[in-house]
Amino acid sequence: MKKRLCLLLALVMVLTSVFAGCGQSENVASVETSKGSGELEGSLVSAEPVEFTYFGIFNGTVFNEEWPVFKEAAAMTNVSLKGTLSSGASDDKQAFNLMVSSGNLPDIISYMQIEDMEKLGRDGGLLELTDLIDQHAPNIKAYFAANPDKEKLATSVDGKMYVIPKFMAGEPSLGYFVRQDWLDNLGLEQPQNLEELEAVLTAFKEQDPNGNGQADEVPFFQRKNTELSNVSWLLSLWGSSLRYYMDDDGELKFAPMEDDFVNAIKELKRWYDKGLIDQEIFTRGNKSRDVLLSSNTGGMTIDWFGSTSTYNDKLADSIEGFSFMPFAPPENINGERVMPDKRTTVNGGWGISASCEDPVKVIQYFDFWFSPEGQKLINFGVEGLTYEVKEGKPVYTDMIMNGKGNALQNLRSEGVQYLIGMAQDFDYERGWIHPIGLEGFEMYEKNDYYKYVWDPLTLKYSPEEEKEVIKIQVNVDSYVQEMVQKWLLGASDIDSDYDEFVERLKELGIEKSIEINTNAYNRIY
Ligand code: CA
Repeated sequence: MKKRLCLLLALVMVLTSVFAGCGQSENVASVETSKGSGELEGSLVSAEPVEFTYFGIFNGTVFNEEWPVFKEAAAMTNVSLKGTLSSGASDDKQAFNLMVSSGNLPDIISYMQIEDMEKLGRDGGLLELTDLIDQHAPNIKAYFAANPDKEKLATSVDGKMYVIPKFMAGEPSLGYFVRQDWLDNLGLEQPQNLEELEAVLTAFKEQDPNGNGQADEVPFFQRKNTELSNVSWLLSLWGSSLRYYMDDDGELKFAPMEDDFVNAIKELKRWYDKGLIDQEIFTRGNKSRDVLLSSNTGGMTIDWFGSTSTYNDKLADSIEGFSFMPFAPPENINGERVMPDKRTTVNGGWGISASCEDPVKVIQYFDFWFSPEGQKLINFGVEGLTYEVKEGKPVYTDMIMNGKGNALQNLRSEGVQYLIGMAQDFDYERGWIHPIGLEGFEMYEKNDYYKYVWDPLTLKYSPEEEKEVIKIQVNVDSYVQEMVQKWLLGASDIDSDYDEFVERLKELGIEKSIEINTNAYNRIY
């Protein structure tokens, strides 16, 4: 929840008369006819070059018309986009709010917060897309027909569709990593269950696996992340978490209110007191992975497959034998292997504003990106420039793999994977992810190690629900976070304070939140 709730915002809606109806330009009909009769060849959307204004900012990167991906798309479709943001803009949320409150909407809007986009749609700022898709977007239509769940995710709480999302591929994002060379030094195997995990962390603590004669090892560490607290993922080892989850009877539960929670916190505290968990876990921050790995003191963590595996190259010269390997989540107290986080399925998307004069061409352009040619273009870039096809697979060129930045940065600076309505192809990531990270990713994917996870972005609230659920959850999250820290550091004792904790959650409205979330969940699933 936290992830989503942090990002939600109250839009200042000044959306009244500025949204005049969407005037149909004259050549729309002719395009429909010509397209229908096959006069437009290949991917062409328009017989003549046309340009649409476009609001695009993605993680602080403003859309750039010069990106080869979008120039190529223009060559193929005859549609080009004219960015409306100055290249100096860097705050997505601020730029979006400013654009909305100005009342001056460009033809096309893309934004990472799909709930804000849908709200804009419900307030009349974005066009409803169902009919447009039905009549003019065969590729999108086919995609939704083949993926009905995805269609639901693209549907607003009022049952209408205002946004074509950016659908992400692949569930795994994070995994357990361990210093394999430390295990080898101590004659240990990768831990397969909770008991073995504790034994390994204890050995890391006590048996000097880095061999410098000092007890300087930090057995388990965690980078600061967007979770409620840095250690919360470990709660899954004792069958709990700080999140909502669906129980086996299909009932939505808030894990800290359920039975397993007290024991999980007590066990976590026991580990903390034994020094198995970084004593500075609440304060070390974002740099902890960098700091503890390069100082040869960090033993185990949970983090992204891609970035974490690259330390094997980065530290190969400075730490002899350095090997940081992904391994399966050890079986938890219930005998389950659980990785309590996964990638979000939707990462924003784009829509057609109510002030667009030619929505048919725009939806046809949107549709292009779901065609085989468009999908290749947005996922891998321009053939011959960013990738070559070898044995039927895209292989990135030297410019991407050995260019200025890392492969991902190099792809992005060509416009690859920018924030548009699209279906991500995981081969895009497979092409550059470190082989060790890929191995971990595939192991987690194959074995489906996910539980106690509820991808918050997939729920849709009505405006009233949204207001209430946010208010409750902001308070609940900060209270839970405060208490977890107190319990671990010994400032509070969970045995004596738990009842009061639950009472306080109820006062904060947790039951109402569960009810709203249950309804929202049932609307989609
Ligand atoms: Ca040592």
